[in-house]
Amino acid sequence: MGLPTNKAINNGGQAHPTTMTLSVINLSQTLIRIDSITPNDKGCQKLLAQLLADVGFNIEHEKFGDVDNLFAWHGEQLGKSLLFVGHTDVVPTGDEKLWKHPPFSATIDGDYLFGRGSADMKSAVAAFTLAMIDYVKSNPNHKGKLALMLTSDEEGVAQDGIKKMMPHIAQTHHFDYCLVGEPSSSKALGDTVRIGRRGSLHVTITIHGKQGHVAYPEKAKNPVFLSADLINDLSQFKWDNGNEDFPPTSFQISSVKTSTNTSNIIPAEMIIQGNFRYSPESSQQSIQTQLGTILKQNNLNYSLNWELSGLPFHSKSQVLKQALNDSIMRTAQQKPQFNAAGGTSDGRFVAPFGVEVVELGVINDSIHQVDEKVLVEDVVKLETIYRDIIENLLKRPLHN
Ligand SMILES: [Zn+2]
Repeated sequence: MGLPTNKAINNGGQAHPTTMTLSVINLSQTLIRIDSITPNDKGCQKLLAQLLADVGFNIEHEKFGDVDNLFAWHGEQLGKSLLFVGHTDVVPTGDEKLWKHPPFSATIDGDYLFGRGSADMKSAVAAFTLAMIDYVKSNPNHKGKLALMLTSDEEGVAQDGIKKMMPHIAQTHHFDYCLVGEPSSSKALGDTVRIGRRGSLHVTITIHGKQGHVAYPEKAKNPVFLSADLINDLSQFKWDNGNEDFPPTSFQISSVKTSTNTSNIIPAEMIIQGNFRYSPESSQQSIQTQLGTILKQNNLNYSLNWELSGLPFHSKSQVLKQALNDSIMRTAQQKPQFNAAGGTSDGRFVAPFGVEVVELGVINDSIHQVDEKVLVEDVVKLETIYRDIIENLLKRPLHN
């Protein structure tokens, strides 16, 4: 409890002093103790804004609907620009009695810091905030631009957060690189970095038959039987082969139902709901065309309803990859794997503005669970890794 042990704060003898590493744990604990269940921020952003303002960051608080958002920036951008993105909201705790330590107590027990948001993602928010502050203090006249964007609407519907902030901020600010602090690591800190995310496209397929009495099938057309071959075709179809960073596009059926719910009626309609998680090798257009072809081949009378929930993105920047690789190797002694697995994230709202987006954070094996936790040592290392990445990217000349 209280301050971490010496073992926990050992950052591998790297460049940054112990005072800096101690405070990242304290700041993580302070944030975890605020029960900012989505979409409530409950003052997390104000607290962080104050720390940033104290070293000369410009601060903009933006409220969309009930959602608090924060944008802070430093520098004039005569060099490269780097934006950190994160969220201060957390998912609900579930039954608090199931927790080993109260979920908002931010208790350190052994090597771990426990609490809701400890891994997703208040420790990363603390780490990049302090890394930014440290960089600006050591380089008050740096040539680049260093910025942070936080929302309290990532874990909920995600309509009033980064989705609205980016178009607003991009009117006056350009960013070369973006680092999202979501927990990307799998088994060890830095073993996995996300360099993209798949797109997400929902579809509702309605197959029209002819309603009738179950005793008189010759007078009806059962849409469930009509759909059997279609469902089989959909389960077999290869939408694309993916690429070196993306797995192939996958289609999954999430629900099937009929338009009637009685035992003696052949229904008029069969309703199939599904979702495409698609790689950049496919597009919304190509998927729609392909599905239309499959439906026609099955001679079906159908209607479709589409809903795009996220475009895919893919960062191919070698500069960014190299900076991440070097920083992670130096502090965490891991050779990171770069991939685009996982669900959607706020990175999808940043990438369309021509920004190279990657995601790097702590181990994600306890996120959204009871007893969410993070290794104290990893939080300390993460701050050093972020600090190195800032140094590496912002010291580059503008045209490089
Ligand atoms: Zn998160």
